[in-house]
Amino acid sequence: MHMKVFNTKEAQDLLKAASNLGSPDGDERTKQIVNRLLADLFKAIDDLDITPDEIWKGVNYFNKLGKDGEAALLAAGLGLEKYLDIRMDAADREADIHGGTPRTIEGPLYVAGAPVRDGVSRLDINPDEDAGPLIIRGTITGPDGKPLPGAVVECWHANSKGFYSHFDPTGAQSDFNLRGAVRADAEGKYEFRTLMPVGYGCPPDGATQQLLDTIGRHGNRPAHVHFFVTSDKARKLTTQINIAGDPLIWDDFAYATREELVPDCVDKTGGLALGLKTGAYKEIKFDIELTPLVQGKDNQVVNRLRTAAAA
Ligand code: FE
Repeated sequence: MHMKVFNTKEAQDLLKAASNLGSPDGDERTKQIVNRLLADLFKAIDDLDITPDEIWKGVNYFNKLGKDGEAALLAAGLGLEKYLDIRMDAADREADIHGGTPRTIEGPLYVAGAPVRDGVSRLDINPDEDAGPLIIRGTITGPDGKPLPGAVVECWHANSKGFYSHFDPTGAQSDFNLRGAVRADAEGKYEFRTLMPVGYGCPPDGATQQLLDTIGRHGNRPAHVHFFVTSDKARKLTTQINIAGDPLIWDDFAYATREELVPDCVDKTGGLALGLKTGAYKEIKFDIELTPLVQGKDNQVVNRLRTAAAA
């Protein structure tokens, strides 16, 4: 079909009515966004001649996506979350904010409520035979380059099966296994004693993997560790590090890898004295530099629905 109906009065009236533009009722911002997204969709249907069969396939897909609870996973996989980072990076350049540890996506698997410990936190609660010990440590500094005592680092990552506690389909992990929070010491130092994570893939039968299969993409991530870093003297940082050497570092389905976020992973000995399960362990030094508040405010706090649990 070559006909186009988007610009007809009938279609434009429908678009206006459906988004309730021009009415005093409803939330103006939501109406504006609904109107624009619906208009873009209507236009795409015209331009690509999207068939009724394709539309209903898409509508049914949304039902499956919701049923699987994977909307946030799909947002990461389709680059929507990365796009928000690209925009925040650009906003920083415009505001003349440079330097600092780069941000990268949060992903959908954070759980609020991990116990905050002073200086050092041991994250592995449940045994994991296939994972060797890992220490992640570093110094948190502020925009002036000086250490930030009292800054809080939260950390979460997967186990050797690629599963996160709280979301583990095998039920093998307690709520805060491999999750923790540390308040930096007087020198701004923090340390996590934990186990080496591996990369993971989207649930194989889920909506996200289904779409990725259809467009010929994989749904896997390299091994990585997530962080939130907060301080009353600087902006919140949401970031991740990759485990150096993982073959998927530059082929992450969620586009979270950044050059500055692949710190060296070094072999060490003496782990038994630190309470680790073996003497040999890996160590990653990850120093974190926070960026300044903007007119005294933290403009990096993102509100989204997050899971919470009691420690
Ligand atoms: Fe993750």
